[in-house]
Amino acid sequence: MTLKCDKCNKDAIIYQRYSGMHLCRKHFIEDVERKIKLTIRKHYSIKRNETIAIGLSGGKDSSTALHILHRIFGMRPDIRLVGISIDEGIEAYRPRTIKSARELTDELGVELIVRSFREEYGKTMDEIAPMKREKGACSYCGVLRKSLLNKTALEIGATRLAIGHNLDDEAQTILLNHLKGDVSRMVRMAPPDELEGLVLRMKPLRQIPEKEVALYAYLHGLPMGSGSCPYAHEAMRREIRALLNDLEVRHPGTKYALLSGFDKISGILGREYPQEGLSNCSICGQACTADICQTCKLLGKSG
Ligand code: SF4
Repeated sequence: MTLKCDKCNKDAIIYQRYSGMHLCRKHFIEDVERKIKLTIRKHYSIKRNETIAIGLSGGKDSSTALHILHRIFGMRPDIRLVGISIDEGIEAYRPRTIKSARELTDELGVELIVRSFREEYGKTMDEIAPMKREKGACSYCGVLRKSLLNKTALEIGATRLAIGHNLDDEAQTILLNHLKGDVSRMVRMAPPDELEGLVLRMKPLRQIPEKEVALYAYLHGLPMGSGSCPYAHEAMRREIRALLNDLEVRHPGTKYALLSGFDKISGILGREYPQEGLSNCSICGQACTADICQTCKLLGKSG
């Protein structure tokens, strides 16, 4: 027997255990877009004449973020959307996703800027990874990518930098930071204050479970991401992901509860641990909290 949508009695395509609702295609899409619009209104009020850069990996999350931002703001002549893809130089993985990013931006008529580790840092991840086995490639790659995304967003005058983090990513990061006792990272997860040299981050998908992002992307023919990065090995995050997925099955709504609990205390965290002001890295000039930025330290430029 086909289950019916709780809103219109058409065939349901999804059952949301956390809400107890069966939804058809139309009402599922409406539900995702409503949550995203609410997130944007509540956390990132967009003003007139903003430039929103979207970190576009070409996978399902960032493609969905761009697709929905284009749906919401694409008709506004005062809002500019620009995709930024970072080519880390991972031959077995990245060229395909950048091709997907290019196809999507061409289809939507959105400008795409592609920047590479090779041009910016003189090295690719394929060259860096074998030398950085002790800490894992991701800790280097993440810092270098964030830095290049921010630098590129600043160069094009972006007022926002949207990234495709979904509910699962957010819940995992909150739990990971708790387990590591990393308060400063926790503070940085909250919607940030304006800091010169740092483009304001926005996460429009933070209320959408990963499976629903995948379904939304599939229903709209968006890139789903093919293959996985050969260097992906954040062991603790993998364990937390499995743990949260297991808890979500047995206690639906766990991921939402983690996020909403975090949102309630993030204001207090921000007051107790105010964000440090930024200065400029004495080597590359990028905004940072120390004399020398993380990127220059990781690239061994600090001597
Ligand atoms: Fe970079 Fe790690 Fe992501 Fe691969 S999995 S692209 S190394 S952060």
